[in-house]
Amino acid sequence: DAKANGRNRFSFYSNELNQVAQRNARIHSDMRAALIDKQFRLEFQPIMDSATKKWAGLEALLRWDHPEFGLVRPDEFIEIANETGLINEIGDWVLDECCKNISRLSNIMDNPPKISVNVSPRQFEYSDICTKIINLIDKYKINPNLFVIEITEELLLNHPKRVATALEKLRAMGIGISIDDFGTGYSSLQYLRDLPATCLKIDKAFVNQIEQSETDRAIIATIVHLAHAFNMKVVAEGVETKAQADLLAASGCNELQGYFLSIPQPMDKLIPNLLADEGRLAAAS
Ligand code: C2E
Ligand code: MG
Ligand code: MG
Ligand code: MG
Repeated sequence: DAKANGRNRFSFYSNELNQVAQRNARIHSDMRAALIDKQFRLEFQPIMDSATKKWAGLEALLRWDHPEFGLVRPDEFIEIANETGLINEIGDWVLDECCKNISRLSNIMDNPPKISVNVSPRQFEYSDICTKIINLIDKYKINPNLFVIEITEELLLNHPKRVATALEKLRAMGIGISIDDFGTGYSSLQYLRDLPATCLKIDKAFVNQIEQSETDRAIIATIVHLAHAFNMKVVAEGVETKAQADLLAASGCNELQGYFLSIPQPMDKLIPNLLADEGRLAAAS
């Protein structure tokens, strides 16, 4: 009867909640060992220049191969890593790995793509990220112009002055600065004006419905206009169809990123494509 059904449903949901809570608890408690045990790895998602159709960049995206759960995506563990502070150690590893890969690509390509790396606000709060990056650039002897950090608008809220100083220092070295998930956060035009950012990444929330929604097209046109007025490039994220890619390119987005162009992949799988792409472009010119 209905009552028994209701009870079953309740136990079903509470059971499911329990499983989520248990999984979160495990993610929380397993993370430190995972770092020592090298269960983290990076995938790289290509970013295409809409004018030249060349791979202009790669975004490093963190993956965790958990021995029991299998692949765990960052949306499940970055927040927890931020809370525990372990994001600093994980982030250090990510920064090192990115610079190592820039060096690797620079050794085999004439025009290697840039590599961008997501950095959490916490990494600015608790450590001298500038010095870390400067040391890595020196350690791997890489061109700082090939390195881009992706920050979110959230970072600008808490310590705007201190953060601006750090970003200016990085920018002065030639490092790129992208504002990620742009449009979903809280940054004021004043922050944008005063920051040395080189690029705005339009959040996929505005890209999804671009074909159907005149409003979203207007938002994208406005962001493009704003970015270009501030001398920044625009990357559109979450491009899943050719129609979206065409519309975004026509709207003035300089670079496109999304499953339609390429999914994130391990570097070993990407390298043959990067080399083929470079060959194709060399042959065409
Ligand atoms: P993000 O920086 O905005 O990265 C883009 C996310 O969109 C990635 O999710 C990517 O796999 C996904 N994506 C790419 N193309 C498409 C598409 O066409 N459609 C859809 N629906 N999604 C697409 P992922 O890899 O799960 O990462 C999620 C978020 O986790 C990232 O968002 C970033 O905020 C954070 N993250 C990833 N790696 C790191 C890291 O090394 N450090 C820090 N602090 N955060 C990271
Ligand atoms: Mg990003
Ligand atoms: Mg994003
Ligand atoms: Mg994000």
